[in-house]
Amino acid sequence: MTDTTPGALATLADLEQRVTARRDGPAYGDGAMIACDRLVRIFTADGVEVQALQGLDLLVREGELMALVGASGSGKSTLMNILAGLDVPTAGAATVAGCDLLAMDAKARLRYRRDVVGFVWQQTARNLLPYLTAAQNVALPMQLRGRTKRGRRAERALELLSMLGVADCRDRRPHQMSGGQQQRVAIAVALANSPSVLLADEPTGELDSATGEQVFAAFRRANEELGTTIVIVTHDQAVAGEVRRSVAIRDGRTSSEVLRRTEVDAEGQESMVAREYATLDRAGRLQLPAEYTEALGMRHRVLLELEPDHIAVRPDDAS
Ligand code: ADP
Ligand code: MG
Repeated sequence: MTDTTPGALATLADLEQRVTARRDGPAYGDGAMIACDRLVRIFTADGVEVQALQGLDLLVREGELMALVGASGSGKSTLMNILAGLDVPTAGAATVAGCDLLAMDAKARLRYRRDVVGFVWQQTARNLLPYLTAAQNVALPMQLRGRTKRGRRAERALELLSMLGVADCRDRRPHQMSGGQQQRVAIAVALANSPSVLLADEPTGELDSATGEQVFAAFRRANEELGTTIVIVTHDQAVAGEVRRSVAIRDGRTSSEVLRRTEVDAEGQESMVAREYATLDRAGRLQLPAEYTEALGMRHRVLLELEPDHIAVRPDDAS
């Protein structure tokens, strides 16, 4: 870019200093519970390559309860499987609670799945063993880990089931529970070994909205009571609308996010204010919403101008 206006150059010199100051600051992902840096996952099926993740960046803070949204096929489950330690990315970097997901050997991977992450899947049947009661299902991960005595396991199982409002299901097997009860028991199972992170892939996808609401309330409870960092993939607008942060994935990349906060006006009235942001990735890429680019007839080329406090994107007037 040689054809820069003098005004913009002066601003650039200005910015240079700020940029240098930022570079000396903390590195990308420092202190984050989950840090994905340019994650790539390519699947090859019958000689055809599918780029499920195309350089995805994501940071999640400790103690956050956040949602991941996006159209079907955008790469959400691929990301969740990687974070769950069930799949390995093709390229990029990912750490969860300080564990490097690309560097783990089989033993470390097993420990990671047992101690560091818990997960809840959409299919209720995938979360629970059918021949065990709710209490036995919750006690099982503790038993497999082998650090908790039998009496304490039963006690903790009941504590978790009570916290999530399903203590009455303790002696029931999955087929004797409703879908919503099964999912809440599944959350208790996922929390049994006190994981740092709880992952859920469309946990309310098979439920009606009222039941989905109850299951979401159980996630919130776990987040508030135990401080567990929680990432929920959801299609459910009601769920996405209840978290402070929801990140949208488009074509295997994080494209935008909505932040919500409570504002109190002069009369003391509380209201939820939502604001949508675009994601600027580590390579400086930005996805512009189709409504915006179409409204101004932008295609292929756009003009970028650096202003003192913003960057302008204009239609290419040369074409
Ligand atoms: P989402 O969960 O957002 O619906 P997925 O992560 O399941 O999306 O899939 C993203 C893309 O990767 C899709 O095009 C899907 O067909 C493809 N994909 C996912 N898993 C595999 C696999 N095991 N083999 C081949 N392609 C896959
Ligand atoms: Mg999926």
